[in-house]
This record gives sequence, C-alpha cells and structure tokens, in this order.
Amino acid sequence: MKILVINCGSSSLKYQLFDMDTENVLAKGLVERIGIEGSQMKHVKTGAEPYTVVTPIKDHKVAMNLVLEALLDKDHGVVKSLDEISAAGHRIVSGGDYFKKSVIVTDEVMDAIKKCIPLAPLHNPGHIMGIEAIQHALPKMPNVVVFDTAFHQTMPDYAYMYGVPYEFYEKNRIRRYGAHGTSHHFVSLRAAEFLGKSSKGLKMVTCHLGNGSSISAVKYGKCIDTSMGLTPLAGVLMGTRTGDMDPAIVPFIQKVTNYTADEMNDFMNKKSGLLGVSGVSSDLRDVEEAADKGNERAKLAINILEYGIAKYIGAYTVAMGGLDVIVFTAGIGENSATTRAGVCKQLEFMGVKIDPEKNNIRGKEAIVSADDSKVTVVVIPTNEELMIARDTKRLTA
Ligand code: ADP
Repeated sequence: MKILVINCGSSSLKYQLFDMDTENVLAKGLVERIGIEGSQMKHVKTGAEPYTVVTPIKDHKVAMNLVLEALLDKDHGVVKSLDEISAAGHRIVSGGDYFKKSVIVTDEVMDAIKKCIPLAPLHNPGHIMGIEAIQHALPKMPNVVVFDTAFHQTMPDYAYMYGVPYEFYEKNRIRRYGAHGTSHHFVSLRAAEFLGKSSKGLKMVTCHLGNGSSISAVKYGKCIDTSMGLTPLAGVLMGTRTGDMDPAIVPFIQKVTNYTADEMNDFMNKKSGLLGVSGVSSDLRDVEEAADKGNERAKLAINILEYGIAKYIGAYTVAMGGLDVIVFTAGIGENSATTRAGVCKQLEFMGVKIDPEKNNIRGKEAIVSADDSKVTVVVIPTNEELMIARDTKRLTA
C-alpha cells in the first residue's frame, strides 16, 4: 500500500510517498514559490540524484500535477500508475477544538478546517488549497487530515483555559490548543516502544526543540498539558519567538514604539527569541559558537533557553505527579548534546542523571541518561510524516 503525505503551505508543497508495507520513503520533494516568480519543484527518488524542474507554477493545482507527473516519470518516478497510491494524508496545523483525532476528508471536515483559519491564518489556507488540488487531480482517492492540535485535545479544561473573561472563550475560542502534536504523539509512542514499555504506563515529558519549540506532559499516553498556547508563540524561548512573557509587555512596547497590533505580533514572532537576545542568530549552532568564543549575550540566550525548558519539565512533573521519561526531539533536541546536558543538570535534584558519554550523540535513538538515573532520558528523532502516513493507512486500509 502506497500513501502520499502532503504538507502544503501558502506557497509551498512538501510531499513524501511511503510504501506502507515497509514504511520506507520511495520519493519525496518540495515545490517552492507557488504563485511567485522563481517557482520550482525538487523531487528525489530514494537513492537517486535529485531532479529539479524550474517552471512557472501558478497555483497548488499546477504544483500537485507536477508532483504526480514526477511520481510517474519513467526515469525519476516510483509508480507505474497513480492507482497505486491508495490515499493521501495531509498535515493540518490547526483543527481548533473540532478534531480530537485524524479523520477522512468530507465536506463537513473541510468546513471545520475553514472555521479554524483565524487560529492558523498562515497555515490552514495553504492546507485547504493542497487538499482541493489533489481532490481535483485524483477525485476517487480518499484523503485523511492529521492535525497538529489533535493530540493536545485530551488536556483538562483547567490546563487549557486562560484567565480571561469566559465569554472570550465562548465567542472567540480563546484557549490553549498547542502545536507539534503529531511529533509529541510520535515520539511518546516510539520512546515507550524503544524502552520496551507501554506508553500507557509512563509519565513522560516530550521536548520538541526546533526553530519552534514545545514541551508536553504525556501521562499514560495522553497529553495533559503543553507549552504552546492559542498560538505557537507561547512556551520556551525559540529561534525568533519570545516564548512566555508578562502580557503587559505587549502594550508597554507598543507605547514606546508605536507598533500596530500586526507589527507587535511580527516583533514577538520574528525578531525575538535566541536572535533578539543574542543579537547573533536564530540558529542555535551559531549562538553556541558565539557563546564558546565568549559572547555574553549568546551565553545569556542559551541560559534562558535551558532554564525555561528545565522549569517546564519541573512543572509538568508536578502536573503528572511524577516523571519516568524525558524525550528530546527535533533539530535542537536531537542534535545539541550541550542543551540536553544543560537542561538535565538543573533536574539532578529530581534524580535525573545524564551520562556524558552516552549523551555525546546526534540524530539517532539513544538512552542518554546514566544507568542509575531515576528518570530515563532518551533522544528520539521525530517523524511527523510517518505518523501521518500511519494514521492515513489506519483510516483507509
Ligand atoms: P523547525 O522547527 O524549523 O523544523 P528544526 O527541528 O530543523 O526546526 O530545528 C532547527 C534548530 O535545530 C536550529 O536552531 C538549529 O540550530 C538546531 N540544530 C540543528 N543541528 C544542531 C546541532 N548540531 N547543534 C545544535 N543545534 C542544532
């Protein structure tokens, strides 16, 4: 069974074709700058040289047709007929509180995804265009939608509600939704499997640390709290995002700068975080390098990040009444041994003990805690696409 996983943005289309008998990726690629000058498609058949097509791509339908042609191409393709593709699975950033799990696309589902546009204005419109494009090209093939928010729908109300007047929840749906749910779900399941246990018996904190970072409390397989909020701005310090801060800072900065609401939003999302504090870069590798050379603001940015992550792990240990496993994933979590060590050092009083040698790894599954650590610390590379493919198979096979 072959499943096409699609992640569409407003001007991009990423895809991976999985053979679900082996869970191997047969081909993957990216269409960029859809509707903008300089559009192109990069397609890679697994094990072969990349194949690039530079051509005007006016919309997502044209982009999708190019992808399907590439999959069929006699030299670069991996299928003889599009009938070999059983279903497509789509990544959707926000399903609001309409979706608690992945579902097959119907007209009602599309209506609900449209209703969530105010919660993900930069993402959901692109996802909708991607679904419509493949429905147009392959009208008989089923489509499944997998939501970044769905895994967090098990949070109790006292964890997802904010202290604003209740009518803003009722009328404007102001509440915590979280993000990266597909990743938190994947790594929590995989970590348990890797440790030879069931996630239903474990209290885990999953740390998805990339350009955007979020931390979740996963108790007995269910998410009970997560650090991102109504939007992906909340939580720990990120590449260019502030993370949590006193909300009164918003009007304060607006008063001194005369920023409009949109400008203020941009400032908090794109000019802050590691970049804003260090003045060096949003990329942790650059910030680590500057800190090693003695740059004090780079050191400060790293300290804010590690302290923030450790505080969340402490808070979620309280939320779960204990802690068995810490999972590190995504660009920073999988690759930065110093971040993992810096965070865990602050948790030693809870019995968390890193083994420096075991921790000296990047990008692969590993236990990085010492044998006598009370809490097992693991690195699990995330694979959101595989999670989407599995859900799609489960719902359509
Ligand atoms: P995104 O959220 O865009 O998917 P990623 O998960 O790719 O981001 O993570 C990007 C982050 O991972 C960047 O801050 C980058 O510096 C960091 N990163 C990647 N490799 C390393 C490394 N070897 N050491 C430290 N940080 C790394």
